[in-house]
Amino acid sequence: MSGPRSGAAGQVYLVGAGPGDPGLLTVRAAELLARAEVVVYDALVSPRILERCAPGAERIYVGKRGGEHSRTQEEINALLVELGRRYASVVRLKGGDPFVFGRGGEEALALVAAGIPFEVVPGVTAGVAAPAYAGIPVTHRGITSSVAFATGHEDPTKVDSDLDWEHLGRGVGTVVFYMSVRKMAANFERLVAAGRSPDTPAAAVEWGTYPRQRVVEGTVSTLPAQVAEAGIGAPSIVIVGDVVNLRKELAWFEARPLFGKRIVVTRARAQASDFAAELEALGAEVVQFPTIRIVDPPDLEPLRRAAAEADRFDWIVFTSVNGVARFWSALRESGRDTRALAGVSLCAIGPATAAAIEMEGARPDLVPERFVAESVVEALENEVDLRGTRVLLARAESARSVLPDSLRDRGAEVVEVAAYRTVPDAEEAEGLRARLREGGIDMVTFTASSTVRNYVDVMGTDVARAEVASIGPITSATARELGLRVDVEAAEFTIPGLVRAILRHYGEDRG
Ligand code: SAH
Repeated sequence: MSGPRSGAAGQVYLVGAGPGDPGLLTVRAAELLARAEVVVYDALVSPRILERCAPGAERIYVGKRGGEHSRTQEEINALLVELGRRYASVVRLKGGDPFVFGRGGEEALALVAAGIPFEVVPGVTAGVAAPAYAGIPVTHRGITSSVAFATGHEDPTKVDSDLDWEHLGRGVGTVVFYMSVRKMAANFERLVAAGRSPDTPAAAVEWGTYPRQRVVEGTVSTLPAQVAEAGIGAPSIVIVGDVVNLRKELAWFEARPLFGKRIVVTRARAQASDFAAELEALGAEVVQFPTIRIVDPPDLEPLRRAAAEADRFDWIVFTSVNGVARFWSALRESGRDTRALAGVSLCAIGPATAAAIEMEGARPDLVPERFVAESVVEALENEVDLRGTRVLLARAESARSVLPDSLRDRGAEVVEVAAYRTVPDAEEAEGLRARLREGGIDMVTFTASSTVRNYVDVMGTDVARAEVASIGPITSATARELGLRVDVEAAEFTIPGLVRAILRHYGEDRG
């Protein structure tokens, strides 16, 4: 990052973050976010999208809290001008599209007035995306050929309303209201007074594109009461028009097998992403609980030394992706690369570890099928006579000693080095505890014994009404030992295996 630039004006990017689903962020927005020095954002920007900011970026929240604006629009405009003068790259991030009910135009005008260069990155607007995720096309051949986007926020009893109610009532096919839940009944009265049939199909989509999306559908005469009854609030999009009927056939998002399930993922954040992405693709709401964080071991020297003398070993055994990553960075630090391992055999425990080794440009010579120390030793013994064999084990600090012990029992010379350390992360624990108590979590998943231990350390064993899913017998045994009940166990001890077990548990096994 280039740091604040004194004097020279930078560029301000008015960027749409899309409606919530991180997959709906544009490629341009993702690029800009990753390199912005400052990101100024609103309440409706999903935290999942903010995670894409560069680690050192300054984040400034200017949204509404409990109906109160933390800053006025004038203050935000002035802030953008000020930041534009000081930084090379400022991202102004807004929910949906910046120019659709986003006041992006006002901010752009302020930048023009101050002579600050800017770029606009359109976003997927909620008025199109929320209906789409509810299975409602906003136009449809044979049903409607026009759509109006309107704010429902305006006081509809205002005599000189900015909205042309006559037109919305009779002149367009579909009407999509933003910010309209509170005033829906009054808005609908105006529509009917202007000639729209009270029997016109209508729907409200709350938190559209999020895993917690809720949809209520009815007609112009029934929807206000239905929405009140269901407790639908902001943010919601309200759609009026015959296209709403298509939802009966097209509601694809809510039909996904894990839709509505709230599932806790307990791996360290760096590795949780594949598992989380898979659960999300199946419709689950993933609650990331990084019960462990991967940090440097207290003393890096043994790892450095081992990496610098890697060719001294006959075998190097890796038990995790982290071990691989940390070992190779130590190797690179010592000024060498994968070629230094030319004469060394590599053993990877598990397919993910093997893949990590391949990413570094080497091929593991041995990938034991089962992830238990005993079978690793067995697999190694099938390859070599372990007597006198020099084995390096690069893995977590304070990992179990079964593996090195049994290697030594067979006569191997074992050097163990701590490549990383896992530490409990208590930050999000309180929020999760509250959600568990309120029945807001359906399942807690464990992908390794260490995740169980750290979870229990931080959270205790009371999972309330949530169920527990484990990746395999060793993890399950640890869970039971520590006082948890295990409801689901994978038959194949991999992430895909765990996903299959979860699907089967919910009666959604389709393969
Ligand atoms: N610029 C934004 C709109 C901001 S106005 C856009 O283009 O989408 C805020 C309103 O947008 C909310 O009151 C709600 O009506 C709508 N909205 C934003 N995100 C939404 C979501 N995920 N689901 C439903 N409505 C949403």
